[in-house]
Amino acid sequence: MKKQFPTAAGYVRPKKSLGQHFLADDNIAQKITNSLTLRHQVLEVGSGTGVLTRFLMGHVQQLRLIEIDRQSVAYLREHYASLGDNIIEGDFLKTDLSAIFPGEYSIIGNFPYNISSQILFRVLQYRSQIPQVVGMIQKEVAERLAAPPGNKTYGIMTVLLGAFYQIEYLFTVNENVFIPPPRVKSAVIRLQRKEDFTLGCDEKLFFEVVKTAFNQRRKTLRNSLRGLWTGHFDSAEHAIFDQRPEQLKLEEFIELTRMLTK
Ligand code: SAH
Repeated sequence: MKKQFPTAAGYVRPKKSLGQHFLADDNIAQKITNSLTLRHQVLEVGSGTGVLTRFLMGHVQQLRLIEIDRQSVAYLREHYASLGDNIIEGDFLKTDLSAIFPGEYSIIGNFPYNISSQILFRVLQYRSQIPQVVGMIQKEVAERLAAPPGNKTYGIMTVLLGAFYQIEYLFTVNENVFIPPPRVKSAVIRLQRKEDFTLGCDEKLFFEVVKTAFNQRRKTLRNSLRGLWTGHFDSAEHAIFDQRPEQLKLEEFIELTRMLTK
């Protein structure tokens, strides 16, 4: 017989393909919930059987949630009936996030690890409406996001998220508090959007520069960014082009973007 989620009345079978690892520790659920400080309008991503939802309901003013798994949605509708239409059955990665709430809202979730980077990329896309995110992700990914320049794990997500958000590594969570336990450790992070989240450069080009540079991270910038070149050849002599992307601070990526703008 397949293993089922053993709490409460309904049973939801954890599905690996959906990254379902249900949290089974109320103290941690409470701690994650408490980490959310912007509590006006809140979207929970991937509620599963509602372990976080239960704590969020008393903690935030307006809660909506989005869950892709029909079985979990049925469970949530039955056990959290007071949420009514605020329970959305859908794919977070394919939903128009501008229509979830009018204006700004925070995001919280024990994210499915197989798509945590995609979730964060989407947050970036909708950053004008999302001032805060509290999320549980794979520990290794959390460490990468918090890595300083020069570190081997410093990468695309570090730079892009760090451009617009302050990234905090809050705490580590062990495997044994989940059903079923994941193979890796987890960590809770908080992203707080910066007061001024404009970069002062062509932001579309900035994304392109960062992605292109890290996609060939062992090449010097002179070689990897050749295709984006629009300026005078003179600027290519600048010492910045001798570097590799993991050595560059955010400000230098911004400067680089300015140099590559006509
Ligand atoms: N919050 C719950 C469940 C975490 S597991 C808990 O802490 O116990 C991750 C959840 O995200 C699962 O319920 C899974 O079905 C859901 N999920 C996976 N992909 C999703 C997507 N693209 N959009 C919305 N929810 C998704």
